[in-house]
Amino acid sequence: MSAGRKSREEIKIMRYAGNVVALVHEAMRKEVKPGVSTKYLDDIAAKIIKENKCIPTFLGYGGFPAVICASVNDNVVHGIPSEDEILKEGDIISIDVGATYHGMVGDGAWTYPVGEISDDCKMLLETTEKALFAGIEKMRDGAFLDDVSGAVEDVANAKGLGIVRQYGGHGVGHQMHEEPFVFNYRVGNKYLLKSGMTIAVEPMLNLGGDDVYVQEDKWTVTTKDHKPSAHFEHTIHITDGEPDILTILS
Ligand code: MG
Repeated sequence: MSAGRKSREEIKIMRYAGNVVALVHEAMRKEVKPGVSTKYLDDIAAKIIKENKCIPTFLGYGGFPAVICASVNDNVVHGIPSEDEILKEGDIISIDVGATYHGMVGDGAWTYPVGEISDDCKMLLETTEKALFAGIEKMRDGAFLDDVSGAVEDVANAKGLGIVRQYGGHGVGHQMHEEPFVFNYRVGNKYLLKSGMTIAVEPMLNLGGDDVYVQEDKWTVTTKDHKPSAHFEHTIHITDGEPDILTILS
């Protein structure tokens, strides 16, 4: 299904869903600390989404068994929360969450430090966040999708970070995954961005090489060299002016 161009009413509903995603992240920022399990974080996210009359988009999606994806250290995306996975000082954790409201989806991810982290990990988090916002800056009516991908790539390359190739951003709205796919590096894509489109941009950058693999649980994506990975994502509404970020509190 194409990202198409959403109506004013559809954008209003997506903004509500995006706000709920932002509320979850606000809670995660406070709750991520040494000693808590990733299942504990999942339970909090579930409660917030339910209290705000949304549906957890990820739960049951392709059979995914949880509300959030919780991906610690060398896990890139799609980590399954577990009672047995306890965060410890110096870890980093990427949390991805989706909320559906009246059939419209908001999708956003952020990587959080657990207590004090290494300088390398700080750089990884800062650079991946910067790459996200460099991409967002390019999301304007009349731009090419490749401009977004290229902006992300340039920020990653400036710090020598690995760019995950097999996963990327996507149109979002009536479905979590709509056209187009958004690479995090230039591919020469001439897909034209138009106002009213809603697209999630989500750089996944590695402290080491690009390569990743899927673990035996069939979900968790992990770096091949087991170096840490970060993941930042927002759902963006393209307008005639400034990019409109839907997954922030408004
Ligand atoms: Mg996404």
